[in-house]
Amino acid sequence: MADSSSMPPAIRSVCVYCGSSNTTKPAYLDLATRFGAELAARGMRLVYGGGAVGLMGRVAKATHEGGGEVLGIMPRFLERREITYQDVPHRMVDTMHERKHIMFEESDAFVVLPGGIGTLEEAVEMLSWKRLDLHRKPIIFLSEDGFWTPFFTLMQHTVDANLTPASFQDAVVDAKSIDECFAALGARARV
Ligand code: AMP
Repeated sequence: MADSSSMPPAIRSVCVYCGSSNTTKPAYLDLATRFGAELAARGMRLVYGGGAVGLMGRVAKATHEGGGEVLGIMPRFLERREITYQDVPHRMVDTMHERKHIMFEESDAFVVLPGGIGTLEEAVEMLSWKRLDLHRKPIIFLSEDGFWTPFFTLMQHTVDANLTPASFQDAVVDAKSIDECFAALGARARV
């Protein structure tokens, strides 16, 4: 029988970082919708930035409409720009730092969908904290068309220059499909 104390903790809450743009490729918006629906189907809670725009809005709507639990964290000064998704529980905060910290504390893993500078900033912070052994939560980049390949190339570039240990590449997953992403999370349905 497996020793449960040596098993990684079950993933209950997944923090999703993703773009806030409504005008990106339809395939990215569609990926966010399918990913949100899958979170709900697997009984996992979505933790995210709280907005109703772009991939953020799609993932939250799909999780909520699929019967899943959602927690949004919205800085007050962004309320108008990112349009708080009112149908799900959300916490209002004053700063980006508070938002990111709550998103970190409330989740067991991070999934990074296609996004811009904001998405990168959030994902790289979690990577850097992992590099400093401040957490051991899984970080998975998910895209179906190689969107994140240039980012992995950049990380390899830092490895090649002996600026990042080669072993760190193993700490980050480049998932090419939703199935691959959940396989990497070691996820099992609760129901
Ligand atoms: P983007 O990928 O640029 O569309 O941004 C995605 C999300 O990241 C948006 O909700 C932004 O508000 C958020 N974001 C941008 N910069 C930061 C930051 N420094 N800290 C936390 N969230 C951020």
